[in-house]
Amino acid sequence: MKEQVKKIASYVPEEPLASVERRLGLKKLIRLSANENPFGTSEKVKAAVTSWSFSEANRYPDGDAQTLRQAVAQKLQIPANQLVFGVGLDEIITMISRIFLQPEDQVIQTSPTFSEYALHTQIEGAQTIDVPCDPITGKHDLTAILAKINSKTKLIWFCNPNNPTGAYTSVAELDKFLSKVPKETMVVIDEAYIDYVTQNSAPSAIPLVGKFTNVIVLRTFSKVYGLANYRVGYAYAVPKVINYLQAIRLPYNLSSISQVAATAALEDQKFVTDSILKTVQEREKWQIFFKKQQIKFFPSQANFIFFYYPGALELAEYLLQHGFQLRKGLVDDWLRLTIGGETEGEQLRKLMNNYRK
Ligand SMILES: *Cc1c(COP(=O)(O)O)cnc(C)c1O
Repeated sequence: MKEQVKKIASYVPEEPLASVERRLGLKKLIRLSANENPFGTSEKVKAAVTSWSFSEANRYPDGDAQTLRQAVAQKLQIPANQLVFGVGLDEIITMISRIFLQPEDQVIQTSPTFSEYALHTQIEGAQTIDVPCDPITGKHDLTAILAKINSKTKLIWFCNPNNPTGAYTSVAELDKFLSKVPKETMVVIDEAYIDYVTQNSAPSAIPLVGKFTNVIVLRTFSKVYGLANYRVGYAYAVPKVINYLQAIRLPYNLSSISQVAATAALEDQKFVTDSILKTVQEREKWQIFFKKQQIKFFPSQANFIFFYYPGALELAEYLLQHGFQLRKGLVDDWLRLTIGGETEGEQLRKLMNNYRK
C-alpha cells in the first residue's frame, strides 16, 4: 500500500448544525465557518428537484451531464467539450493530483490556502512547497512562487480569491505570471469564490485557457449558487488536459438530481446577483468594523474575511456559546468569518464589540 496514507489523519468534517445545537443547548446556531451561501438556495432549484422524476431512480445518470454541460458552456461562452464535471471540486482536485503527480514530484502552493491541495499531494507521495502569502495583503507572492519552480515542479495550486485570505490576483497579473511558468508545470486556478470579486469587471482567468495550455480553471456550485449539498464542480482546460481528466473520471460520478439542481441554479442568475450584492454590502460593513476595532484583517474579495485576533480560540468559543460558529484552526490566532446576512452580522458585531470591553 501507499506508505504515506498511513500518516494521514482523516478529515474532520463540519459537525451537522443540529448536532452542535443539541450539544451546546442552543436554540439556533448560525454557521459562518464553511463559506456556504447564507441566503439558502434558489427556489427554482427546489422546483426542479421536486419535479425530477423518481421513476428514473433505477437508471444510471447521464455520464456526460449533457444538459448541464451545455448550460455552463453557454453561460461562460466556452466550448462544451472543454469541461469536466466532478462531485464537487473535491473530486476534481483529487483527479488532477492523481494525473499529474508521482512520488518525489513537487507542488507549490500559497500558505495558507485550501487544505485539500496538500492532502492529495501527500496521498500521491509528492511534496508540498509552501510559499507564504504577502503578510500585509494576504495575496499570493508571485515572485516567490516563480523562484521555487524547478524541474520537479508539476503543479501549482492558485486559489483566486484565495481561501482563507480572501485576496484576489488580477487577470493581468496572472497573465504575466503564467508567461514565466514552464509549460510542463500545470497551474490550477481555483475560482470557487470568483463571483464575489468586485474590484475588476472581468475577474476570471477563463480567457487565459488556451493562451496557456498548462492552465486549468476550476468552478463550483457549492458557494454562491448555494448547492454545497449537491456536490457539483467543474474544470475548464485545453482539450488535451480535459481528455486526461475524462480518462480517469468515474463514468457516473454526478447523480441526475445533482445535474438537475445545478442546471436550475445556473438559470436563476437573479438569485446569484442578489446573493452577491447582499454579501458585498455586508463585507463592506465588516471591513469598516475591523478597521474601527483595529483588528488586523486581509481586505477580502470573497464571501469571507480572515482576521487576526490574539486569543482567537477563546473568542471562537465565546461566539459559539452565543450561537455563532467561525472557522478556527487554520492559522494560530486567526479566524475566518463567512459573511452572512445583515441581521446576523449586526448581532455578531455587537457580540464582538462587547467581548472586547
Ligand atoms: C469550498 C471550496 C471549494 C469547493 O469544493 P466543493 O467540493 O466543490 O464543495 C473548492 N475550492 C476552494 C478553495 C473552496 O474553498
